[in-house]
Amino acid sequence: MKIFCIGRNYIDHAKELNNPVPSEPMVFMKPPTALVVNNKPFYYPDFSEKIHYEGEIVLRICKNGRAVQPEFAARYYDAVAFGIDFTARDLQEKLKGKGHPWEIAKGFDRSGPLSKWVPLSELNNPQDIHFQLKKNGTVVQDGHTRDLIFSFDTLIVYLSQYFTLQKGDMIFTGTPAGVGPVQIGDVLEGEIEGNAMLTCAIK
Ligand code: ZN
Repeated sequence: MKIFCIGRNYIDHAKELNNPVPSEPMVFMKPPTALVVNNKPFYYPDFSEKIHYEGEIVLRICKNGRAVQPEFAARYYDAVAFGIDFTARDLQEKLKGKGHPWEIAKGFDRSGPLSKWVPLSELNNPQDIHFQLKKNGTVVQDGHTRDLIFSFDTLIVYLSQYFTLQKGDMIFTGTPAGVGPVQIGDVLEGEIEGNAMLTCAIK
């Protein structure tokens, strides 16, 4: 199972970290050992002092495929979940400075809490999903997938040029503005279309 992640896929988030807006999708991956399911907690790792949350809509791949053509892209995903792309921002900044890959800052153990899946057929408008992340009860991120720089279909077409998509793969599609730090004792909650999807306590 592959877990793709897309960086800088919302203009407002690229700007808040002073990053340029990309002209093609920026792709990285997390290993399956990053996933945390069933609302289990996140344990603050001792190798970082600056863990940031990034609330994201995650897309589930439902069909194997490669070199998918745009007109067929929508057939390759069937459900979404709420995910958190935890990032060791201090490590990432160091690695970025050296021009090195980000893997340890983004793919470490338990860096990817994931909610249950919602079939797209149960959403009013699968092309414009509203999602929010709350920290200790306060909304800190509020996103609409209509604001994605690279849409779900575009991501399927792009990724499948390089990687064979397999049923069960997933894509963390990027985070909107409002990323920030967590501390031990915080509780994060993710919502999709106003429905509680994910709870994640920081321990
Ligand atoms: Zn992210």
